Amino acid sequence: MKNLRLIRETVTPEKEYVMDYVHLICEAAGEMVFPLNDAAPLVAPGDEVLVGQSLAEGVCCSCSGTVKALERRSDGSKEVLCAVVDNDRKFRTAEGIGAKCDWRELSRSDILERIRLAGAVGTDPKRFPTAAKLTSLDPEDVSRVIVDGSEWEPYISSDGDILATRSHGVVNGLRVLLRLFPGAEGVILIGEDKPRAADYILDAIRDSGGISVAVTRAGMPLGSEKLIGRLLSGGDDAVCVTVTPAEANAVYEAAALSTPFYRRVVTVAGTAVKNPGNFMVRVGTSCEELLKAAGGVRPGVSVGKAVLGGALSGTSVSSLDVPVQKNTGALLLFAEETETPESECIRCGRCAKICPAGLMPMLLLKAAEKGDLKEFSKLRGGECVDCGACSWVCPSKRPLADRISYTRRLSV
Ligand code: SF4
Ligand code: SF4
Repeated sequence: MKNLRLIRETVTPEKEYVMDYVHLICEAAGEMVFPLNDAAPLVAPGDEVLVGQSLAEGVCCSCSGTVKALERRSDGSKEVLCAVVDNDRKFRTAEGIGAKCDWRELSRSDILERIRLAGAVGTDPKRFPTAAKLTSLDPEDVSRVIVDGSEWEPYISSDGDILATRSHGVVNGLRVLLRLFPGAEGVILIGEDKPRAADYILDAIRDSGGISVAVTRAGMPLGSEKLIGRLLSGGDDAVCVTVTPAEANAVYEAAALSTPFYRRVVTVAGTAVKNPGNFMVRVGTSCEELLKAAGGVRPGVSVGKAVLGGALSGTSVSSLDVPVQKNTGALLLFAEETETPESECIRCGRCAKICPAGLMPMLLLKAAEKGDLKEFSKLRGGECVDCGACSWVCPSKRPLADRISYTRRLSV
């Protein structure tokens, strides 16, 4: 890869990759469930709905059919009010969806309104709206808009897939965002294990000034928005806006194609999955249906753990009777296995090498175990960004991230 900056040069742990950038389509057949995110419903049971129609503010329907119920269902972490739609499998779209628009002609408030109506969100577990994030910032203050496609966690590759297969959408989404923050530079972060995605992105940004690509080490967490900003600038604390590749593509589709965020790429992988792969799937599709599209569970394997999201940052779920949501980048299923017992620290230093905040996790754990909050704060424990990488690489299975995170919350 030419003309790319390599950031954060350090030792890399092994990363397990799952597939190539050709996603499969998981076309929803069963009932669809849409968590309403505490917004008031705009439909009632018995109503006919279409693809792209608002079910509540920021929540669009991804199929056509009839609203079957408004009831509480699990969203993977808790019971919330959901619209349940009987999918007629015709996928008829609402009027105006897909209408082309020259976003360069739109005002700042028009762009923000389109992003709000499209219901774009990032990976935040609470599905915090992109429009609210963008509106809360003073355009004068923002010096960098970052599309974070570094995707360092094992198994997951949906961001890489979006960068490669939606490169035009991601780059143009970034251009739309730069129109909202005219003084900012645009940066797209891509893991070094995704050279083809980088090629597609470089092709898409050709001849456009103000956007660059930075390559990150595979398997290395970059940490919080603030830490990423510091890495890119070489130290300063400039204000950055960070979006995911799916979010950037959603911004483009909202501004240029009048299309809401109603489908996304999801990685289905893990040691228990028969045919791991990336799938384009409609939001609201049941995870059971998505797993079926990946061939189900490997024969003879019992599932020990199912996770929505990354292996380290995701949420464990006890049932797959939960819907794919806009922030679901992965569905991971792991085979039941005997846990390797925790053992003494062998002082290998791997936890310190991988920590994106430059901390000494083994010393922080010692302070946490002793309940020594003074030492914990001297070691800058409050700067932990909860990435989980230290626990992931520890050969002695020390409970670093959990204890550090717990003590950090006690000490603030
Ligand atoms: S201490 Fe562990 S969890 Fe916290 S930032 Fe460092 S590597 Fe991540
Ligand atoms: S990675 Fe684990 S064994 Fe190695 S220094 Fe850190 S705590 Fe100790």
